Amino acid sequence: MTEDRSAADVFRLLADDTRVDVLRAVAVTQHELEGVGSGAAELAFSEIYDEVDVENTSKLSYHLGELTGVYLRKGDDGYSLSHAGERIVRFILSRNYEQPESFGPVSVEGRCVFCGGEALEAKRSHQFLRIDCTACEKQVTGQPITPAQVRTRDGESLVRSIKLRSAEDAGQIRRGMCPECGARPSVEVSAVPESPLPDADPYVVTSTCEECLREYNSPLTYSVVHHPASIAFHWDRGVDVTARGVWEFHERLYKGCWTSERTSSDPEEYEVVLRHGDDAVRLRLDSTATVVGTERVRGASGEFRPS
Ligand SMILES: [Zn+2]
Ligand SMILES: [Zn+2]
Repeated sequence: MTEDRSAADVFRLLADDTRVDVLRAVAVTQHELEGVGSGAAELAFSEIYDEVDVENTSKLSYHLGELTGVYLRKGDDGYSLSHAGERIVRFILSRNYEQPESFGPVSVEGRCVFCGGEALEAKRSHQFLRIDCTACEKQVTGQPITPAQVRTRDGESLVRSIKLRSAEDAGQIRRGMCPECGARPSVEVSAVPESPLPDADPYVVTSTCEECLREYNSPLTYSVVHHPASIAFHWDRGVDVTARGVWEFHERLYKGCWTSERTSSDPEEYEVVLRHGDDAVRLRLDSTATVVGTERVRGASGEFRPS
């Protein structure tokens, strides 16, 4: 079992073409076998033997023995992928260990949070889709992309997929789940004194996953955009915030229509106001940026008029 193996031992098990072929064969054969709702099928030894280029049955038996317990599970009817096997074989099949193909620059909608400029350009930079402001030359956002994500899309649909991914991630983080590993992140709100961001929101939420060490940062205002109260408020006004990229929210922050403030220091409490048209939704947050109350406000000042 995995408990008494080191990470190096676990990965060393894969340093063999036949074993990688076995995992691939299990995934491919399961994919071909599975009907709707039938769950993951177990593959018999003979089914795997038919699919893998291996000298004889005792060699295959040896490799299956090595993989079982970490990458494969052995049940009454044969072999299936374990959690680690699933993760690793999908990674192998999608070739996400490669470098993403180059992409861009293409112009995208949105606004620079630093200078208010509207000429934004997206391009690939290493494993990120990076959006830069052509006026002040600052990076407006950087969103992680996978090689498969780029390979299967062109310009506009790639940008759409990045919006979708960032909205999904933001929604999961807001609900206390690390999108990478599923653990519960710790959350901290801090004031940014010398922030280059507009004064409208001087607070940043940092969610840190202590398990996989992934860290997410966002202005406090953005951290509540995917709360149901905000989604519904905007939906009622013809805006689907779940289909927007963060750079498309910058206009609101830049114009001071979305604001945050600390309303209490012991214990710490915050208030975020998201304005649209003549109305607003007000969200009260505790020290961990958890929304503890919401209300809609009619005739709010500092209205946001989309341009
Ligand atoms: Zn700019
Ligand atoms: Zn994590």
